[in-house]
Amino acid sequence: MEFFSLKKQYNLIKEEIDEAVSRVLDKGVFIKGEEVENFEKEMADFCNSTCAISVNSGTDALFLSLKALDIGPKDEVVTSPFTFIATAEVIANLGAKPVFVDINPETFNLDVSKVKEKINANTKAVIPVHLFGQPADMDEIMELAVDYNLSVVEDAAQAIGAEYKGKKAGSIADLGALSFFPSKNLGAFGDGGMILTNNKKLADKLRLLINHGSSPQEKYKNLILGINSRLDAVQAAILRVKLKYLDDWNKKRKEAADYYSKNLKEVGDIITPIIHSERSHVFHQYTIRTKSRDKLTGYLKEKGIPSMVYYPLALHLQPAFDYLGCKEGDFPETEKAGREVLSLPIYPELAKEEQDLIIKEIREFFKH
Ligand SMILES: *Cc1c(COP(=O)(O)O)cnc(C)c1O
Repeated sequence: MEFFSLKKQYNLIKEEIDEAVSRVLDKGVFIKGEEVENFEKEMADFCNSTCAISVNSGTDALFLSLKALDIGPKDEVVTSPFTFIATAEVIANLGAKPVFVDINPETFNLDVSKVKEKINANTKAVIPVHLFGQPADMDEIMELAVDYNLSVVEDAAQAIGAEYKGKKAGSIADLGALSFFPSKNLGAFGDGGMILTNNKKLADKLRLLINHGSSPQEKYKNLILGINSRLDAVQAAILRVKLKYLDDWNKKRKEAADYYSKNLKEVGDIITPIIHSERSHVFHQYTIRTKSRDKLTGYLKEKGIPSMVYYPLALHLQPAFDYLGCKEGDFPETEKAGREVLSLPIYPELAKEEQDLIIKEIREFFKH
């Protein structure tokens, strides 16, 4: 059994994907062009956002979002320590300081009640992460942002298609970052990412930033300092095919999650995922909690069942962030989650028989 399989998905839509790739190869336009423009339009539509700017990766989407907001040295940006390194890495790479706030143990998302105490005159922005595919408490975050004049960048890398009060994840704040890393809910055949925004000025600036600050009117005239971060046309063509299936795939993930939860919720001390009101969860990961996490992982491995821990070492305890001077005990809910979480295989093509086997073995483990 595999934790995740891209092969099964490819085989189901092979003809369409192959046709899309050949179309690009035949045409010979590999950077920018029609495929990329159409994909951006289709994504803007799907997310109900006015502007969608494709970039090289989810990491670049976050990095460039902060850069567009002029975040730099002396600035502080508040975020979660329970996320993938990229979220905080981009803050630090701009010379700004990542300021961590503990998580809500039910959703693994930022505990908004703890943000206020971290805000000072240097605080410029907040990056809520919609972890595992469940949107963070966006209303509360946007209220704080108004009160303290902060910008908000959503890290929606794991939450493409998720909704918060009828709005798509990534389309709610000033800017939203999406990732098309192959294992994400909408995955490319390589790296890719996107920035969503309803702010035309920020969008125009981002169009410059992703392309060396090159003037759209005059070739080899560079208006600002940018970088090279563009989505390949081949990836755009592939993603256009896959986007048509995304709602259906997210629905299948949710059905698989419901099935796990129904069958695991009264097993041992397992806590199945808790979804807060007025939002939908797209289950990029299906993550349970148990005090016997390490023993369960070992048992499942013996039985040939893969599982993963996202994330075993919180960001504030990463060697790369030693210089921030955080220590163990600073964020107790994050650290506790790091000891208790376990993600089980979930993807649209996961077979019912595979799921039944996983459930059976987990039940077996807790019998002893
Ligand atoms: C995947 C991911 C990213 C980075 O995306 P890449 O496309 O891999 O650069 C950022 N934040 C979170 C929460 C992610 O899961």
